[in-house]
Amino acid sequence: MSKEVKTQVVVLGGGPGGYSAAFRAADLGLDTVIVERYNTLGGVCLNVGCIPSKALLHIAKHIEDAKHMGAAGVEFGAPKIDLDKIRAHKNEKVIGQLTGGLGQMSKMRKVTVVNGVGEFASDKQLKVKDADGKETTINFEHAIIAAGSQSIKLPFVPHEDERIWDSTAALELRFVPERMLVLGGGIIGLEMGCVYSALGAKVDVVEMTEQLIPPADKDIIKAFTKSIAKKFDNIMLNTKAAKVEAKKDGIHVTFEGDKAPEKPVKYDAVLVAVGRAPNGKKVGAEHAGVQVTDRGFIEVDKQLRTNVSNIFAIGDIVGQPMLAHKAVYEGHVAAEVIAGKKHYFDPKVIPSIAYTDPEVAWAGLTEKEAKEQGIEYEAAVFPWAASGRAIAQGATDGFTKLLFDKNNRIIGGAIVGSNAGELLGEICLAIEMGCDAEDIALTIHAHPTLYESVGLAAEVFEGSITDLP
Ligand code: FAD
Repeated sequence: MSKEVKTQVVVLGGGPGGYSAAFRAADLGLDTVIVERYNTLGGVCLNVGCIPSKALLHIAKHIEDAKHMGAAGVEFGAPKIDLDKIRAHKNEKVIGQLTGGLGQMSKMRKVTVVNGVGEFASDKQLKVKDADGKETTINFEHAIIAAGSQSIKLPFVPHEDERIWDSTAALELRFVPERMLVLGGGIIGLEMGCVYSALGAKVDVVEMTEQLIPPADKDIIKAFTKSIAKKFDNIMLNTKAAKVEAKKDGIHVTFEGDKAPEKPVKYDAVLVAVGRAPNGKKVGAEHAGVQVTDRGFIEVDKQLRTNVSNIFAIGDIVGQPMLAHKAVYEGHVAAEVIAGKKHYFDPKVIPSIAYTDPEVAWAGLTEKEAKEQGIEYEAAVFPWAASGRAIAQGATDGFTKLLFDKNNRIIGGAIVGSNAGELLGEICLAIEMGCDAEDIALTIHAHPTLYESVGLAAEVFEGSITDLP
């Protein structure tokens, strides 16, 4: 039997964008429904993305740190890895706690969650089919499309083989391969590469462009690559995986390019991490008259409104960068606009972080972007080899780099090193606030800290530090 529901706002997709939009809409007094195909809220980020990957990276960091304590006089034995326990910790303690919390938060706000796959029937109606084929029709005044994205599959890769993983499969910890290939040197691939390397796998990385994490600052990535090369067996830049064959004895990969091995290489597992594609073509947008690009993105204006005035879209489905904090912020804006507030999405910076070991973090413009945009700039660098805190904790291969425009205003910043992601906060705030180098340099930074490096880079720019190593 089919059911009819009437609501002021329906949110299609319960990921970080979707639940944030729904909660904000409900907090603003709007009657709100979330449609989510899975049984838990949280989307990719909480279930198979940001959070589980960080739970595993946390474990990996402890294993790696323990390995390096010998030089400081403390030897630990080899770690005993229990994959079942790690998996249970990730699923129950971490994901379970967070998704359970979201369920409670929806109840508290009286947000109705309808489980099933949703598709627009018109610009006023969404049909949801649950796993048993039961249909719910939702009649809405406003809709927010937050249906996210999915991993890109490559046509020449036999993805059905269970030794060929996407990020979701890699997070399942099916087994620790003796030899593993990470196909794609972006953030997701490298994070999972760090996890499997710490668990004992020999990891190769192949990246078709000239640098790992292509959008990040070149100098920062140079230092990062030098450091991470100690963890990985072989990093093949300017190289493509041209052929991937699943055979009984392993996955045979043929490479082409600068660093291509002459013969195919045999791996026990291959993680394909070549990016994510938006789900715009999978929500019946055409029935509502919502335009979708050829690549599956939904175009929106600064208020996150699509070409149909009562339908909004947010998160991965509207474009890059595909990041949870961008989705959340957009969700808040869309809900506030629907509630009649004059809000719009126009951030100066959206921070990007690779939670690898070491971490890479950047915000604002890179040197390449500044050049492309014809912006006059000057870069200032503070190497962590001159930081007391970095020396104390063996993190001297990090550095902090700031970019200033011709008025000395900060326009970008990037950090490589331990906890870079946390240290980036000051740079984001400085750019949003329009700080200049003097503002940053005159702010007293606690000593000894790693974030001191931001103040010291500004002092380098001001010319008050000249004797760096
Ligand atoms: P999603 O999280 O994709 O949520 C969309 C939801 O919609 C899903 O729950 C889906 O089931 C549901 N849905 C889709 N279609 C339908 C339908 N027709 N009917 C019903 N429900 C539907 N970002 C960060 O900022 N930091 C990180 O550290 C980070 N790490 C990541 C690690 C990995 C391994 C991956 C894969 C991603 C990571 N990301 C990270 C990216 C982040 O997860 C996404 O940017 C974020 O989840 C996007 O949120 P969203 O709300 O747009 O969509």
